[in-house]
Amino acid sequence: AKAQRKGHCQVFDTAMHTFAVNQLRLETDLRRAVERDELALYYQPLVNLASGEIDGFEALLRWRHPERGLMSPAEFIPVAEDTGLIVPLGNWALREACRQLSAWQVQFPALRPKVSVNVSAVQFAQPDLADVVLQALASAHLEARYLKLEITESVLMDSGDAAMQTLDRLQDQQIKFLMDDFGTGYSSLSYLHRFPLDILKIDASFVQKMEKEAKHDEIVQAIVALARSLNMEIVAEGMETLGTLARLRELKVGFGQGYLFSQPLDAEAAGRLLASRRHW
Ligand code: C2E
Ligand code: CA
Ligand code: CA
Ligand code: CA
Repeated sequence: AKAQRKGHCQVFDTAMHTFAVNQLRLETDLRRAVERDELALYYQPLVNLASGEIDGFEALLRWRHPERGLMSPAEFIPVAEDTGLIVPLGNWALREACRQLSAWQVQFPALRPKVSVNVSAVQFAQPDLADVVLQALASAHLEARYLKLEITESVLMDSGDAAMQTLDRLQDQQIKFLMDDFGTGYSSLSYLHRFPLDILKIDASFVQKMEKEAKHDEIVQAIVALARSLNMEIVAEGMETLGTLARLRELKVGFGQGYLFSQPLDAEAAGRLLASRRHW
């Protein structure tokens, strides 16, 4: 029995060791990723459900890892947040999204697309975040009203006065704030009350189940009513079917996003989609 226990321990130790080594390797690689120009933004359209036209894009980070290939943020954002590397990564994403959007606005003056960028709680804890954002807009010659920042409850949860000031300062400049993944946290309601955000994004988990389960349809209706009473715009994320599109139009939800319209695309493909004037 003793030998068995020992063997067990070794397996565990080996697994732990492999995990630790992998994390460390990922961290080292990630540190170089910005310098080596391995990061990319992919763009997923947000559709105005009333007109069916593209209103803008959400910028989503990708890492073109030299050995692992195209990596999804789920694989590296947690490491980036733990190590603080999310700050340079996130700042890069802000600058790059502004630069790309500015190029599209010149290319498509009649369409004037918008862009939303995800900002993590770690970035929000940086006292200079407002300067970083305003600097990104200025160097791209982009008007602030075309930029939206997507935050989750964790940003508001850990927020001190500095975060509040950042929010205030950027909202004064007409930058819109969006509450991401709404409905998945614990005390969403109290945060909505305390922090006046502009847009509420209904989490994909409700949207994806609303067609099959009446309960989820009711949850979506309740969130829509709540957003209306707080004067917030509404985005439904994770839209995958025509049935959901019909239902969300019926509920007069303003905007939608999901594989039904398009997966996230590289900048070139996103530009072609804009040029095609495709609508739904
Ligand atoms: P999120 O902000 O909730 O982004 C939506 C995620 O859902 C994206 O995954 C998108 O590709 C995926 N998605 C879109 N439509 C559909 C659909 O119809 N069905 C399904 N099943 N999924 C859909 P992605 O690109 O892998 O990003 C994952 C998460 O990583 C994001 O979740 C966000 O929290 C984080 N993230 C991405 N880019 C950044 C960034 O620049 N900064 C920070 N801090 N976080 C980021
Ligand atoms: Ca988001
Ligand atoms: Ca989301
Ligand atoms: Ca989500």
